[in-house]
Amino acid sequence: MRKSFLEKGKDTPIERFYGVGEKRAEAFHKIGVFTAADAVYRFPRAYEPRGNVKTTASAQDGEVCSLILTVAGVPKNAVIRKGMTLTKFTGFDGEGNCNLIFFNQTYIKDQAGKGMTFRFFGKVKRERSGVSMTNPIMESVDGITPLRDLVPIYPLTAGITQKFMGSVIRESLEAVRSEKNGIAEYLPYDMRRRLGLCGVTDALAMIHGPRAMEETLPAIRRLAFDELFMFALSMMLYGKNEKLRASEPYQNFDGTAFMDTLPYALTGAQKRTFEAIASDLKSGNLMNRLVIGDVGSGKTVCAAYAVYLALINGKQAAIMAPTEILARQHFGELSETFGAMGYRVALLVGSMTAANKRKTVAALAAREIDLVIGTHALIEDTVAFDDLGLAVIDEQHRFGAAQRSALAKKGRDTHVLTMSATPIPRTLAMVLYCETDVSVIDEMPPGRQKVDTFLVNESYRERLNAFIRKNIEAGGQVYIVCPAVEEEEKLVSESGDTLTKDDLFALGGEEEEKPRLKAAVAFAKLLSEEVFPEYRSAFVHGKLNGKEKDRIMNAFASGDLDILVSTTVIEVGVNVPRATLMIVENAEAFGLSALHQLRGRVGRGTRKSYCILVSDSKTQKAKERLGILCKSNDGFAIAQKDLEMRGPGDFLEQTFGKTRQSGDFDLGIASLEKDVKLLYTAFDEAKRVLAEDPELANEENSALAKALKERLFKRQNVIV
Ligand code: ADP
Ligand code: MG
Repeated sequence: MRKSFLEKGKDTPIERFYGVGEKRAEAFHKIGVFTAADAVYRFPRAYEPRGNVKTTASAQDGEVCSLILTVAGVPKNAVIRKGMTLTKFTGFDGEGNCNLIFFNQTYIKDQAGKGMTFRFFGKVKRERSGVSMTNPIMESVDGITPLRDLVPIYPLTAGITQKFMGSVIRESLEAVRSEKNGIAEYLPYDMRRRLGLCGVTDALAMIHGPRAMEETLPAIRRLAFDELFMFALSMMLYGKNEKLRASEPYQNFDGTAFMDTLPYALTGAQKRTFEAIASDLKSGNLMNRLVIGDVGSGKTVCAAYAVYLALINGKQAAIMAPTEILARQHFGELSETFGAMGYRVALLVGSMTAANKRKTVAALAAREIDLVIGTHALIEDTVAFDDLGLAVIDEQHRFGAAQRSALAKKGRDTHVLTMSATPIPRTLAMVLYCETDVSVIDEMPPGRQKVDTFLVNESYRERLNAFIRKNIEAGGQVYIVCPAVEEEEKLVSESGDTLTKDDLFALGGEEEEKPRLKAAVAFAKLLSEEVFPEYRSAFVHGKLNGKEKDRIMNAFASGDLDILVSTTVIEVGVNVPRATLMIVENAEAFGLSALHQLRGRVGRGTRKSYCILVSDSKTQKAKERLGILCKSNDGFAIAQKDLEMRGPGDFLEQTFGKTRQSGDFDLGIASLEKDVKLLYTAFDEAKRVLAEDPELANEENSALAKALKERLFKRQNVIV
């Protein structure tokens, strides 16, 4: 059979498209675009409203719009300085004139013949001297080339202009719509009809070339569904933790010695978790349990109980925490408890001397240690156990999937207990961890004081500073968190100008205003040198190396600092009982769950504690969001609201980070779709499909299986 090599299709390499040479191909590859199919999944961020046509009389100063103008005179080129030319001419419509000015585009002179009519899109300037436009986009109104009313604006990469990106994507769009080798619909017709989803290639066509903004809505819905549905399928197919494996059941479940060490009564949720752990270890299958509980809900004691059961059944146990300071805190507490019972407890962290590490590693292998607590150092190759019965992973979301399983692999028959402080809504936990046993600790220990939370704006700065002083004078410590410094996103128009979102139609409708983020570095300096020179303060941020970070955190934890200014790197789980005040600058820049976690850093001692959210955001939505935090202290309720308000994509991204359990899933467009029901629908549909066809092997699902494989495996190793 002769292969059609002329017609382009979804798999046509990007090099085969018009104007793509080696250099540009390289630029495309860098952003993960290798084929036509990759190109059409680069979605626009916004659209230029070129259909917004005004006249020389009606256009306002500063307005971004189109003017339909006829060239009045012959354009003139002039060199204004070395490397800079200027092209100038006048255009007119029925109501007046407009000066048209172009820099470094001398070819315009040959295109703009006297008497010809063009559509000019750009920013209108209205001055005493007249109306003008600089570097507008010029399109011929010749009745032959269709003029689009909305022109997509894409995220770019060095070496590719907006115009070029647009033309490659348009060509790719045609290729993927090819009947023979384009993108075939992979959702069953029946499912699409039930859910009211448009076809995949129609959705792609509408997102890249909508005739009106309303057309982007069904397109987003369909493409967002695809992302969520594929995510759900991959979680269920590949994200499963290891299948239940048989193991020798533990025999000894006498917990008295452990219970006697507890200075408090367990909460109901803790009791349930204890029971679940015991029954796992009794069951004859390996335990694989995730404990989800709000910050401060008392997860550590559950882990300690599991450790205790492992030890009294003659096994070794290990606890891995994401940071040294956390590992040291656990060690401090647990070595006391278990040391008193006669067990040997050791610490293994990166900053120990090589000799000390070697000693500990040797002792572990020789079974001279019963419980080891450490960081990533635990999963280094040199570490081996004699008989590791239990692996505990604290703050599990801070580890990659491979790291999490690496610890358990150091034993032959190792039970696994993971702990997460990310309070995801229970319903979501059920779908996301459908193959894992989950214990939810949704009850706080009694007597836990509420952290009073307030929302203030910049006008409170003086009072805020006074409040900080008051807290420190009373013996408290203060956290001040600012968002990491972030460049505002710039959108480049076809003419190469940068545009603001206000000039465009942003995809996904109403956007929250983006405040200027406090430049954390300068702010920290200001605080330490000018505002609070009398106090001991330090600044931690993501660029510091681990040792330096730990050093500062330790200093704060041991009371050698009064104020800790930081980007969001303050470690989860760190216990600083004297910290009584948490201030979050530009609070609107954080997700609610993140804010709630930050707030959990204070209120850990007996002193009354406060959280102050500083925000100058004027949007109703931001105020409403932050208001929830002031009213509620329930992490699970807050997470549910967060999910509802921010949409599934954003939420999943923030909750699970970039490295999710099952490959690298890009939930880009799903964040535009605010309908949470779509997330649950996607999981329901995935379950329904897999219930009938667990391996996705049936003929009617072959297109789906193929599409899923392509998404999962193709874009590996690509860093965008
Ligand atoms: P997290 O869930 O954030 O890991 P921790 O396990 O560190 O929380 O517990 C936070 C604090 O609460 C600890 O000081 C712990 O001793 C205390 N705690 C835990 N359970 C209870 C309880 N049932 N009653 C009183 N205090 C408790
Ligand atoms: Mg903890």
